[in-house]
Formats: sequence, structure tokens, C-alpha cells
Amino acid sequence: MALLADYHTHTPYSHGKNTIEENVAAAYEKGLSQIAITDHGFNHAVFPVKRDEIESQRKEIKEIKDKYPIDILLGVEANIISKDGRVDILPQDYYKLDIIIVGYHKLVKHYRKRDFWFFFGNLLSELFGHYSKRQIANNTRAYINAMRNYDIDIIAHLNKDIKVNVEEVAKVAAETNTYIELNGKCDHLTDPEIMICLNAGCKFVINSDAHDKNRVGECHRGLSAMLRNRIPESAVGNYNKIITLKSTKRKKAKK
Ligand SMILES: [Zn+2]
Ligand SMILES: [Zn+2]
Repeated sequence: MALLADYHTHTPYSHGKNTIEENVAAAYEKGLSQIAITDHGFNHAVFPVKRDEIESQRKEIKEIKDKYPIDILLGVEANIISKDGRVDILPQDYYKLDIIIVGYHKLVKHYRKRDFWFFFGNLLSELFGHYSKRQIANNTRAYINAMRNYDIDIIAHLNKDIKVNVEEVAKVAAETNTYIELNGKCDHLTDPEIMICLNAGCKFVINSDAHDKNRVGECHRGLSAMLRNRIPESAVGNYNKIITLKSTKRKKAKK
């Protein structure tokens, strides 16, 4: 036992290489008990899964679910689309998705025209390696508003292509039960930033962000960050356990 779930994988519905079934089979072979299919959300400018494709994805999952004794979740990797932390999730989307992860991506259709400047500012800062205090404050506010205003299960690759005040984001992550991802593809948080998250009381999940079936469940980067920073097992949601999804809570509340 170790990692029991991979909550971040892509398929050709966005720009992953392998089908839902191939990802699921790979997760099953690796001994995971849960896998999430989380293609790029609806406002991604280049590789979005479309809203009307969610039904086809759900159908594919239904058709294969008896073949693999593993829990298959359908979600999206939604996008921050405005300076004030709007996310490309509509209220009706919650009923169709089991899990919602949210990330900052450079190439998205902005909510309003003027939000262009928010993304452009971050692009320039990333390019020149310098973020102003004001920009960090704006970025932090965007994440905080997103976590407060949406039911987000996981924040993907925090601080990739953007910089925030990690402590403030981590506090609100803890308060809103939002997991902070340790992404399998890049070291988006420094070790001191990981410690800040831990000390703020927030929890992590370790995901692959696989765009290819061979990388499903491939979480070495996150696991070594866990060891290096002595993150206790209890602070990693998918280490020897699985997370409680906000969709499960929503369903219970409806009954
Ligand atoms: Zn991403
Ligand atoms: Zn991703």
C-alpha cells in the first residue's frame, strides 16, 4: 500500500494520448483503487473538453466499469478565468462531475476582456522572473475567491506559471477542505512553501497529471517531496486512503 488514487489524468478529450479505458487499465494494473479522468476544463483555449462531451465520457466509463474493479471518477481540471477568481464551472456542472480540480493555465478564454491583463501580467512576470507585490496579492485573491466560491476538491500545481502568497492560499485551502496537489510533472512548490502549507494545516494529494497511460499513477516527484519534507501520512489524502469528495457530500445533503 502507498498511493491509492490518482486524481489527475488526461485523455484525448483534452490532449492526453490514451483513452479513458487505457488510463483506467493502467491504474488498475498499478494497484490503485481510484482514478479520476480530469481533462482540461471548458475555457481552455486549446484543448478543452466540451460540456456536451461529459455525457460521452460518462457513457464510456459506464461501459468499462465492470471490467475493472477500480473506482472511476469523472471530473475536470477547471481553469481560473478571471482576476477575481472566477472558474469555468457552472452550477449545473456539479451534478455531472464527481471531482473538480482547478488550476491556473496561461491559455484560457478569459471571463471578461479586461481579464486579459491579469493573464498577460502573469505571463510577463513568468518570463522576466519577477512578480510585483500587487500581482502576488491579485493572484492570491483569485485563488482564495475560487476556493470560497466554488466546490473545489483539489488545487492543481499551485504556483506553476503564476505566483501567490502560499501561506494565505494554504490557510483558505485548510478552511475550505481543498487539497493542494503535489504534481507529478513539475516541482511547482519549493520545499519551504510545502512546509508553509503543512504548517497552515492544509492537506495534500499526490497526482501524476498523466497525459499518457504509462504515466498514470507515476507520482515519484510528489512522494519524494513527501519524504524530503517529512509530510506525515495523515496529511496526504491519497496515501493509504482516499479523499472524501465534495460531490459525495453534495449528494448526501440532497437526500
Ligand atoms: Zn494543469
Ligand atoms: Zn493536467
